[in-house]
Amino acid sequence: MITNDMLADSQKYIMNTYARQPLVLIKGRGTRVFDSDGREYIDFVSGVAVNNLGHCHPRVVVALQKQAQRLMHVSNHYQNEPQINLAKALVTHSFADKAFFCNSGTEAIEAAIKLARRYGREILKEDRYEIITMRGSFHGRTLGALTATAQERLHKGFEPLLPGFQYVPYNDIAAVEAAVNDHSCAILVEPIQGEGGVIVPSAGYLRALREICDRNKLLLLLDEIQTGMGRTGKLFAFEHDGIVPDVAALAKGLGAGMPIGALIANEKTAQAFTPGSHGSTFGGNPLACAAALASFETLIEDDIIIPAVEQLGRHFLGGLANLKKKYSFVRDVRGKGLLIGMELDFPGKDVVTACIKEGFLINCTMETVLRFMPPLIITEQEIDQLLVTLDGIFAKR
Ligand code: PLP
Repeated sequence: MITNDMLADSQKYIMNTYARQPLVLIKGRGTRVFDSDGREYIDFVSGVAVNNLGHCHPRVVVALQKQAQRLMHVSNHYQNEPQINLAKALVTHSFADKAFFCNSGTEAIEAAIKLARRYGREILKEDRYEIITMRGSFHGRTLGALTATAQERLHKGFEPLLPGFQYVPYNDIAAVEAAVNDHSCAILVEPIQGEGGVIVPSAGYLRALREICDRNKLLLLLDEIQTGMGRTGKLFAFEHDGIVPDVAALAKGLGAGMPIGALIANEKTAQAFTPGSHGSTFGGNPLACAAALASFETLIEDDIIIPAVEQLGRHFLGGLANLKKKYSFVRDVRGKGLLIGMELDFPGKDVVTACIKEGFLINCTMETVLRFMPPLIITEQEIDQLLVTLDGIFAKR
């Protein structure tokens, strides 16, 4: 089908929930994607922090091919080997004792909300159900995850929301202290607010939250959906703060492109789920788990990919900082590892479009923040190519 026909069919047959670019992407390899007209792009979006190993990583492709020929799906009423192996790998390389699998970030957050409430009611045996979340956060689109997302503009038209949430400003420890009460069961927070505009909190923020949780019998639930799987230069972003959470929600980069989410938790918290308290038909599906395991093993075994992220991020931030010096309309550049934002004093939409014309996919969030989340295998040369392109686009303003 020719591109214009596909775009027309898309408009006709797909619900209008995204302001999509008029690009039909048909192939990906490493840091590159290709559209239906044969144009090549360097991908600084990675499916929104999903393709951490790049597109179609050979080890993931082979794992998928093998698993697809063997067994694609069985019910969670039975065991399946890839799910067991993935749980074991995640537990071996993290603070966690147990994993629960689902199909997306939103579902991992729903599971975290349910687990925290069950923990308050069934383990602590107290009337604890309230969860403290942060203004500007993003935790997903189902009603529980949407309520946890403290952004009124995303709530509009979906009220009434779920009771039992308290919102406080991000990076404000005193506000969290003031919000804790006898009904609180957990604090839910992103180590860096990604959708919220790449907001990096002060060093020690997670540590202070950990202390509040310990003092008040609360669970620390970390949303590592965007920051996890090496994105910030550590396997998980909380490692930068030298703390461990009780629960971490994972998705995005976990499956290297296959849809999968996970909740990993310490034993005291995980025991709150018992047979029948939560579940998912597709959660822990052998195909998705085989891809996630191949991706995870690659990230863990490769001694270059994650260690290189910090230096790549520094290089990228340095180049963006030079552009900030040159162009007064650049308000800020910030980020950690390869989760980077550049805030402009005008909407970034046209810059995104101009980048596409030049062969680069970039993202814009919160209207004015250009966001860069390339595969972790991006090179300094590719980053430099984007920096030169941005310079050229900015010079024309
Ligand atoms: N939490 C965070 C931090 C996210 O960035 C996202 C998605 O952007 C989600 C949750 C929701 O994940 P999903 O879109 O897989 O449901």
